[in-house]
Amino acid sequence: MNKKIVILPGDGIGKEVTTEGKRVLDKIAELYGHHFEYEYATIGHDAIEAIGDPLPEESLNKMKNSDAVLFGAVGHPKYDNDPTLKVRPEQGLLKMRKELGLYANLRPIKLFDELLEASSIKPEILKGSDILFFRELTGDVYFGEKGRKDDRNTAYDLMIYQRYEIERIAHKAFQAARTRRKKVTSVDKANVLESSRLWREVVQEIGKQYPDVQLEHQFVDAAAMNLIKSPRSFDVVLTGNLFGDILTDEASQIAGSMGMLASASVGDKVGLYEPIHGSAHDITGKGIANPLASILSAALLLDISFGMKQESAAVIKAVEAVLKAGYRTADIADASTSKDKILNTQQMGTQVVNQLAKV
Ligand code: NAD
Repeated sequence: MNKKIVILPGDGIGKEVTTEGKRVLDKIAELYGHHFEYEYATIGHDAIEAIGDPLPEESLNKMKNSDAVLFGAVGHPKYDNDPTLKVRPEQGLLKMRKELGLYANLRPIKLFDELLEASSIKPEILKGSDILFFRELTGDVYFGEKGRKDDRNTAYDLMIYQRYEIERIAHKAFQAARTRRKKVTSVDKANVLESSRLWREVVQEIGKQYPDVQLEHQFVDAAAMNLIKSPRSFDVVLTGNLFGDILTDEASQIAGSMGMLASASVGDKVGLYEPIHGSAHDITGKGIANPLASILSAALLLDISFGMKQESAAVIKAVEAVLKAGYRTADIADASTSKDKILNTQQMGTQVVNQLAKV
């Protein structure tokens, strides 16, 4: 197959981990006889420094004309420490999601058995956890009207949802549940919020079209508790932008490290694949970032955007084999990891690439 992929490294460790994700794609192309053509594009701090725009038109056009995008992360300490700066890297991210029509963020939380001990949750509670989050991306407080009142001491962000936004992501969640354990947990705060009452009403309506899928509703506070208390009770979780943002970071602890979790953002056009972690200023440039989230994002890209199920499964199997062989980056190593098995970013990428040739 011939495919065009945009590589969007972004800032900080985004660049370091995306390099390894691309190496894995290269190896897949070689092993399975595909031709992947790459184009690089800028976003975030680098783009602001270069032309004063966190998402240059040129980058957006490249993405719109591609078959899929492999993204790293954006963010820089300069902006984190100065909330008054008007042009910010995250604006590039929000604009990209909006312009590409990426309304559903899929985050698989799957625990590799080899990393049971790396999580802060007890292994007996965790074992067998396998959750797929569907977080809505284009509505909610992130895009509602926001501002300050005249006295500047009152601020507001409007939580807003429209029926069509809920319908389209609910369909995606129910369809995914059909290929899994056939259960959808919809998370909202319908006891307090009107937008959540609409959310619940619409999800119930859509659910009737999928009678083979069990639908349950949980308030976000209860869901936050149950994720830690009984993660195995979840299959597909469907939720809004704000609750999804928070719950998926919480759930990342089930997988042991931010450095392990991949995500896909999909809509009606091109799909975007990225680790859930940020640009991690604290470890940028040290070469120690875990590239597995980017590599697993590449696996999602192969599966969802290109329909290459076998190739995607091969990447996941290679990651599993590397972990089974005891290799770790520093973030997922523990006291039992021998020093010679603690790898840097590039070495971990090499292990996965070498393993791919064997699976
Ligand atoms: P972060 O995800 O960058 O880092 C959180 C912690 O996890 C850090 O201690 C970091 O070292 C560690 N970590 C993250 N990824 C890792 C990896 N691959 N390997 C090893 N350790 C890893 O979150 P943060 O520190 O809150 O934010 C840093 C910057 O990233 C900020 O500017 C923030 O705005 C931005 N950010 C961007 C995105 C995105 O681009 N999608 C997401 C979250 C945060």
